[in-house]
Amino acid sequence: MIKYPFLSLKELTTPIAEELNAAAAEVIDSGWFVNGKKVAQFEENLKNLCKTEYAVGTSNGLDALRLILRGYIELGVMKEGDELIVPADTYIATVLAITDNKLVPVFVEPDINTLNLDTSLIESHITPKTKGIMVVHLYGSPCWDETLVNVAKKYNLKVIEDNAQAIGAKAKYPGFSGNFITGGLGDAAGNSFYPTKNLGALGDAGAVTTNDKELAEVVKALSNYGSNVRYNNLYQGLNCRLDEMQAALLSVKMNYLEAENAHRRKLAAIYNNTITNPAIIKPLIEREAVQVWHQYVLRTENRDRFKAYLTENDVGCDILYPVPPHLQPCYKEYANLHLPVACEIANTVISIPISSMTSEQDAKEIADIINSFRG
Ligand SMILES: *Cc1c(COP(=O)(O)O)cnc(C)c1O
Repeated sequence: MIKYPFLSLKELTTPIAEELNAAAAEVIDSGWFVNGKKVAQFEENLKNLCKTEYAVGTSNGLDALRLILRGYIELGVMKEGDELIVPADTYIATVLAITDNKLVPVFVEPDINTLNLDTSLIESHITPKTKGIMVVHLYGSPCWDETLVNVAKKYNLKVIEDNAQAIGAKAKYPGFSGNFITGGLGDAAGNSFYPTKNLGALGDAGAVTTNDKELAEVVKALSNYGSNVRYNNLYQGLNCRLDEMQAALLSVKMNYLEAENAHRRKLAAIYNNTITNPAIIKPLIEREAVQVWHQYVLRTENRDRFKAYLTENDVGCDILYPVPPHLQPCYKEYANLHLPVACEIANTVISIPISSMTSEQDAKEIADIINSFRG
């Protein structure tokens, strides 16, 4: 086995297997598997975590984002052909949620230092068709500042957070509701509990968090065939529900989220203090925000050689993401956009181990290995 694995879901799950088994057994014994108490309980827990009025469980993170936008369409806030600002460097699911609803993504360059959307570039991309901004708290770093909040207010734009990678993070600047916690900063947020995320289910799961009662109700109905009351279908809905089993398991795992995030911050600090190789660019540690380090992302011009070097030295690594959404074969219509910063990031990033299965000692050893790399 590799000495410093990138991530092993088995190793992450085994220490709490007994508790998870007990939660699963309770669901099995209850004979109730969809739309029950476990989902309601998890939604309650998530509301408390994100400090929002509403949380609606969904089948996964992409569906959470799709349902938010579909909800805005049903409410008449958005319509086919309207534009949404989106960072050019993100996981493709962010963009898929937009185009699935026949809305138009307007790609805006990220900041080369934060790797998040460069909020100073938003205003120049706004047109009469712009209805919202989809921010992504990429790698667990909140993308939120005064510039963003002001531009959203000025043009009356909805701000939707893609909180898939940042559950439990805190921005340095409050959201519309005075909240600092990601998932509760904007008008609505899509959360993902894909197994590799900081709060991972044992399968697919997601949720919408929001303070908007109308939106929460529409999303809930849309996720359940468009039905608000049984056999009354308000919308031509979907089936995108969170199930009782995943909800029960997630409520157990949520008890460990804070410790997981704190451990990741410790490892990030060790990497940050110990890695000194001039060929390697480290991610920004934001002093005022609370990052949750879904990924610890280095950048280097010699990525191929660095990757081979890490592999030779038994250090697991991964590239998130090697190709930006606008260059994917499914988005040929955007292939000619000039987005050099997004491309530069895609060509240079590499993630190293950062999870509860990496010890502080491991992190020091990994940093030493990285310092011995001759770029
Ligand atoms: C994982 C992820 C998603 C999608 O979540 P799923 O639960 O896998 O559907 C969306 N956006 C970002 C940034 C993600 O990392």
